[in-house]
Amino acid sequence: MLGAGMAGLVHAVPLAERFERVTLVERDSLPDRAEPRTGVPQGQHIHLLVPGGLTRLEELLPAVADDLSGRGAHLIGAPEWRFHMGGGRLDLRGTDFRITGATRPLIEHVVRARVLAPGGVEVLDGWAARELLTTSDRSRVTGVRLRSEADPTEERALAADLVVDTTGRGSRSPRWLADLGYLPPAEERLKVDVHYTTRLFRRSPRDLDGSRNVLVDVPPAGRRGGVALAVEEGRWLVTLIGMLGERPPADLTGFTEYASGLWNGDIHDVVSGGTPVGDAVRAAFPSFSRHRYDRLRRLPERYLVAGDAVCSFDPRFGQGMTVAIIEALEMRRVLDEHGLDRIGPRVLSSARWAVQDAWDLAAGGDLAHPEVEGPRPLSWRLTTAYLERLLPVAHRDPLVGAALIRVIGMLDRPQRLMRPQLLRRVLAGSRRNGSRTPASGSAVRSPA
Ligand SMILES: Cc1cc2nc3c(=O)[nH]c(=O)nc-3n(C[C@H](O)[C@H](O)[C@H](O)COP(=O)(O)OP(=O)(O)OC[C@H]3O[C@@H](n4cnc5c(N)ncnc54)[C@H](O)[C@@H]3O)c2cc1C
Repeated sequence: MLGAGMAGLVHAVPLAERFERVTLVERDSLPDRAEPRTGVPQGQHIHLLVPGGLTRLEELLPAVADDLSGRGAHLIGAPEWRFHMGGGRLDLRGTDFRITGATRPLIEHVVRARVLAPGGVEVLDGWAARELLTTSDRSRVTGVRLRSEADPTEERALAADLVVDTTGRGSRSPRWLADLGYLPPAEERLKVDVHYTTRLFRRSPRDLDGSRNVLVDVPPAGRRGGVALAVEEGRWLVTLIGMLGERPPADLTGFTEYASGLWNGDIHDVVSGGTPVGDAVRAAFPSFSRHRYDRLRRLPERYLVAGDAVCSFDPRFGQGMTVAIIEALEMRRVLDEHGLDRIGPRVLSSARWAVQDAWDLAAGGDLAHPEVEGPRPLSWRLTTAYLERLLPVAHRDPLVGAALIRVIGMLDRPQRLMRPQLLRRVLAGSRRNGSRTPASGSAVRSPA
């Protein structure tokens, strides 16, 4: 495994179940506590596991939710979320899905401890993957060349029956493949020029009447959004989002003013009433991209790419870690059925649905902004029109609210929103209401 981020960790689990020795090669020196690290710069911003991610993580690591809560993470049930989308708050009464309320370093720390505990996985940290090693005809990957971060003159070769690239959005796989004479994957890129600024605040259990998660979406006609999440050690983690070049300020006054400009006041209530903890952190992501490894005709044997190295999503719905978990589960299934035979193409193809759903959902929301460039096919326009009807109904009808959350939370495929029972409810509800809302999460594909 190249890279010991979330994708590397979760992929190590099925491998360790089947192989004698799994090595996690990591460029950073891994901390023995839950703390931010250089290799995961996004880790200081909001990071939650959506319901479909938490449930599936438990399939890989049974009772990991207990480990998380034992370390201070919140497990937050849907009635405690304030999910402000499409001009109103989703009605989630009677819905019992859970998300995590924890910092990314804590999630990663707990997952890493669980992955390493049984002893079949070893960590080689402080080493960066430099290039792939192959058979002389370059048809099969046989290992990887590593370079020491402490002493760049020191190199070593690591032989392996399988190499999995989970080095994140900066992955060199396209270059490595080209150097070996393979076509690199086509890249789909979405330019959104998004900026995040994050601050921690002290949290009182009385804040927001006990609600522990707030999402204020970026409306199609606007550029500002935000998320507030109750995390370990009695804190709120607040990430303010600016799209299309808008930059949430880092200083407390500017941060608070920016929060007051969101279309819903919950995050401003958290920020203006809270005591800040530490300094702000900022990050900018000019674009998100998807590498179409799944479409390549040729890949070397014994080679797989996963996680953000395949696709980095706009995190507006927090699905990146969940997609990595689904990929790991798909890899487990493929290993059971086919062993290592054509493992790369098989896993990429069987996990395509998850990447596609998350990409459509996030990119569709981005494309609702007229300034964002990208294809808007008929299916996108139809779905957007449908969601404009669905959202106002989801503000009043818990069944519709829950159906939408099941899709955003990756418990259901987007097509489930088109089932006849729900269609009838949406159409009847929107006739009664007579209103439409600009859809911000507008990429749920029509079944066509
Ligand atoms: C602002 C922001 C907020 C997000 N919020 C959420 C959220 O709420 N929920 C969610 O599910 N997802 C979220 N994501 C997405 C999430 O961060 C990623 O999808 C997830 O971390 C993917 O894991 P990964 O292991 O593929 O990559 P990473 O977690 O980035 O890990 C890559 C690892 O590879 C290592 N590495 C890099 N190069 C080398 C090399 N050459 N050799 C060895 N090691 C190397 C790095 O040091 C790092 O440890 C968010 C993303 C952003 C940008």
